[in-house]
Amino acid sequence: MTTGRYSDQDVEHYDRPRRRTRPRTKERPTYDDAVAGVVVTVDRGRYTLLVEGRTVMAMKARPLGRKGVVVGDRVRVVGDVSGVDGSLSRIVEVTERLTVLRRTADDDDPVERIILANAEQLVIVTALADPEPQPRLIDRALVAAFDAGMQPLLCLTKADLADPETLLSTYRSLGVPWVVTRRGGDLAEVRERLQERTSALIGSSGVGKSTLVNALVPDAHREVGIVNAVTGRGRHTSTSAYMLPLPGGSGWIIDTPGIRSFGLAHVRPEHLIEAFPDLDEMTEDCPRGCTHGDDEPECGLDEALTAATVDPDRVASFRRLLAARSEPLY
Ligand code: ZN
Repeated sequence: MTTGRYSDQDVEHYDRPRRRTRPRTKERPTYDDAVAGVVVTVDRGRYTLLVEGRTVMAMKARPLGRKGVVVGDRVRVVGDVSGVDGSLSRIVEVTERLTVLRRTADDDDPVERIILANAEQLVIVTALADPEPQPRLIDRALVAAFDAGMQPLLCLTKADLADPETLLSTYRSLGVPWVVTRRGGDLAEVRERLQERTSALIGSSGVGKSTLVNALVPDAHREVGIVNAVTGRGRHTSTSAYMLPLPGGSGWIIDTPGIRSFGLAHVRPEHLIEAFPDLDEMTEDCPRGCTHGDDEPECGLDEALTAATVDPDRVASFRRLLAARSEPLY
């Protein structure tokens, strides 16, 4: 469990009255006996948690109301946490989230959905060939990662089929870290990148993401009662995200079988540029509401380009991501 990093001050008590003027009732539960857990998957209102190493089923307690509980959430839970078949516990608190990965259903339907919480890294799995890389999808995933405050990692698979250099040249100026794998090859470098953090993996079908997950965590599907969407066996066969502890106990991965792309209508330009502190500081004198895009009349980035105080590739790459935000999804 990695719950140790959270202090008591971070805990959000959903059942606390909003206005302090409202007296607390004697009936208000205290949940002194609540224990910590992490949500590893969600399926039709039922939550699978890991509590002290056990797989425990839970539902939301009433005080949580309509508050969402998502994969990766650190929660506190009461009731039957034995993990015995048929037992059910209740989630009474959700710890404040470090990161939140969101998507808009699509660009025409700007309803935000939170996909997962508390992942520090977004691993964008892309094949170098078979299927061909789709830079637009990579750009969109990068925007989602930066918006979420997550560190992106490009994981380029099937390097035995194509040279990664062409693709990497597109992303070098963004400073996005990358790792390359070959079919049947060694995964030591990938494992290294996944240590001591929680990483969400996304990628289109055929890029080798399922193969990667199965190689990284050979036993976990059985251990936590979750089944790979590919095999379709076991109690969890939906396409929702699920979280797995890496062998050795020093990291987690979250697989996202249902996600092929990101609607980005929720992403605000002023938020995106915060992921690029060197560019952000050049926009201090931008007109109010400047998106820092290509067609802004008095953008500080253009002044920096004129003064040659910024790498033009970096500005162009940032603006390409910015544009990806408002391009149609398909
Ligand atoms: Zn600007």
